[in-house]
Amino acid sequence: MASDLTILLLAQFALYGLGWLLLGALLRELRVPAWLWAAYSVMQATGMFVAAASDGSGPLPPPEALFVSLAGYASASLGVDLYLHGRLRFKTVWVVLAGGGLLLQVALHLSGAPAIARAVGFNAAIAALLLISQALFYTPMRREFGRLGLLAQLPGLVFGAFVLLRCVVLLMDPSRLESSRGFMAELPIVLPALLAGGLFHFTFAGLVISRFVGRLRHVARHDALTGLLNRGTMEEALNAEWLRYLRQRTPLSVAFVDVDHFKRINDTGGHESGDQVLRQIAALLGRHARGTDRVARWGGEEFLLLMPHTDAAGAQTALQRLQGELRDTQPSLPPGCGTLTFSIGVATTSASDLSVDVLVARADAAMYAAKQAGRNRIVAAG
Ligand code: GH3
Ligand code: MG
Ligand code: MG
Repeated sequence: MASDLTILLLAQFALYGLGWLLLGALLRELRVPAWLWAAYSVMQATGMFVAAASDGSGPLPPPEALFVSLAGYASASLGVDLYLHGRLRFKTVWVVLAGGGLLLQVALHLSGAPAIARAVGFNAAIAALLLISQALFYTPMRREFGRLGLLAQLPGLVFGAFVLLRCVVLLMDPSRLESSRGFMAELPIVLPALLAGGLFHFTFAGLVISRFVGRLRHVARHDALTGLLNRGTMEEALNAEWLRYLRQRTPLSVAFVDVDHFKRINDTGGHESGDQVLRQIAALLGRHARGTDRVARWGGEEFLLLMPHTDAAGAQTALQRLQGELRDTQPSLPPGCGTLTFSIGVATTSASDLSVDVLVARADAAMYAAKQAGRNRIVAAG
């Protein structure tokens, strides 16, 4: 019979499963991967429970314990694939590895293969599934989660290598199997499996949190319509650059770019077409900005450019180039809207600026002066 200790350990896995089930129920976009991970936890626990509860008379746990364990690992990998790619990207690989592995177990069992062949077949199938999964997930994990992603891969990698080693040891010395009483019930195998499983759940919970925090941070810092920085983030950047200016006294330029007669686009083509034009302008501004420049949607159809280390002459050159690009790359406008032009006001730090707000206000006033002067021009604040 299974010992109390085994039951306690397995109950813990049932709890991991329950955790993923609840998370999947709460977060719709995480539903399928979370439920696959819940299934992994439950299947892993079931496999071990069946193995531990068997009479231990043979050298191997009952076949259903092996099937359910292998299916559990496959379920975990499917979940990771779905979570990383939003779809099953490696469908064929899973069909071959999981389907092939399960068929192999069935064939070995039905053909009455010796225990050593069944044990090696089972270990080889698990090792292949775990190690190939880690190799496939390496790049997307690294790209999205950096070092945390690698940490999350470690349990699968180490346990995969461990199972592979077990395979090699069994092949080299089959008598080891004869001397064991149902190897799944033995601590040297069960504990690493439980540990790897437990670490999988903890690290993947970490990945889930990290993805959500990353998304929240992105939403909080960017404008929903255009994807540019939003006003709050630009205010932070302005303050930071201002402090740097005070320390280093390298010039700092700020420009307001306002679309001329934007209302006409909405009036003629509707709000949706106005939104589309704003997105196209934003994309152009984003492409135009140098590495150190920052671009934000300040409000409505008004954009703010922050140009660190840029004096008045440098800002003039950059803005003339921008004005030229905006003129040449006309967004698709509703019929009858003519060509789109822009009024730009720019201000560069001067000794009389007592705060960054004064600098921004001077750029704003320069932009209004550009409107007054007939639009479609760049005006530098005096
Ligand atoms: P001016 O040359 O004086 O700047 O004229 P204008 O029409 O561009 O400026 P005005 O301030 O009169 O109007 C701005 C318009 O921008 C009005 C508003 O409906 C529109 N607008 C502001 N935000 C959005 C948005 O997110 N989407 C769309 N489609 N329109 C917007
Ligand atoms: Mg305008
Ligand atoms: Mg405006």
